[in-house]
Amino acid sequence: MKAHSSKVGVFVRIRPTANFSKDLIECLPDGQTVNIHHKKDSRRPQDSRKSQLSSFRLEGVLQDVSQGELYARVCQRVVLGALDGYNGTLMCFGQTGAGKTYTMTGSTESYKQRGIIPRALQEVFQEVENRTEHAFSVYLSYLEIYNETLVDLLSSLQGSPHPSPRGMVVSEEPGRGVFIRGLSIHPVHSEEEALNLLFEGEMNRIIESHALNRNSSRSHCIFTVHIESRSRTLSDAKYITSKLNLVDLAGSERLGKTGSEGRMFKEAMYINKSLSFLEQAILALADRRRDHVTFRQTKLTHALKDSLGGNCNTVLVANIYGEAAQIEETLSTLRFASRMMCV
Ligand code: ADP
Ligand code: MG
Repeated sequence: MKAHSSKVGVFVRIRPTANFSKDLIECLPDGQTVNIHHKKDSRRPQDSRKSQLSSFRLEGVLQDVSQGELYARVCQRVVLGALDGYNGTLMCFGQTGAGKTYTMTGSTESYKQRGIIPRALQEVFQEVENRTEHAFSVYLSYLEIYNETLVDLLSSLQGSPHPSPRGMVVSEEPGRGVFIRGLSIHPVHSEEEALNLLFEGEMNRIIESHALNRNSSRSHCIFTVHIESRSRTLSDAKYITSKLNLVDLAGSERLGKTGSEGRMFKEAMYINKSLSFLEQAILALADRRRDHVTFRQTKLTHALKDSLGGNCNTVLVANIYGEAAQIEETLSTLRFASRMMCV
């Protein structure tokens, strides 16, 4: 990985819905500000005002943007950076149903609705072909983190029918950086081959969540494109390696009283913990306190340790749902996003 400096790019994407409430959510013409007009802040019951305004300024507010436009605005530079040797991480954050998976993977309904991952793969292979002065090797891995357990979504390709959660650990080695010991990594030579692996992983994610009777929106998924390149013209050229992490985070919603028992409680607790450590890690990195950042607290931050902050391109897409019933979650997603925006 090469070194350079960049900040965290934070965008908000508003999921179009029939019940979109213009009275509540107002996108300003600057394309960067979203205002939320809400009735009382439930955290301040003593506040006697009838309504209040919360204003959030981000790198971009994306409303009614196509999948292609979204890719060009938020992801393309991260992909090109990875081909140049810089690690990159793009994460979708927000409550379940807000459009994270649609943004990341897209819908299979039409070609136009492909999400970030298939578009990134297309670009990677196009660039590999164009950049004739370098020899590239591309590998893929697909990791799921559920309740701090690591699951290899592509392990069935190696002959074992079910993804095995056992035997994987986040490791670090000098010269190699952070890697997941036991996670399968697959060489790919074309966009088509890469897409087949993506679909395989998506299928495994569904099969596995059915088999274990749990909701797939309760886990984090990290799709990683590992890129290795070497100059063809310099005789003593070294290998440059980089990682592009495309992350579909677990739903950030807080639990209502009904779900606060048993399995759902445990899931919510793990999600809460990993998202709050993710936030702390990113905030601390911005403060140049890298030494003090405790990445090992959760599997998510540990796995992303060398792909966040300072030397890496980090982009966060906060997905929100423009409906009145979701306003508390929307506010909490936007608060998270605007805290990241200060980085
Ligand atoms: P999440 O992964 O955050 O739980 P999904 O991506 O599954 O949410 O989105 C929920 C539903 O909304 C899906 O049916 C998805 O196709 C649809 N959807 C989400 N965002 C958009 C969008 N920008 N345009 C059209 N449909 C969307
Ligand atoms: Mg999802």
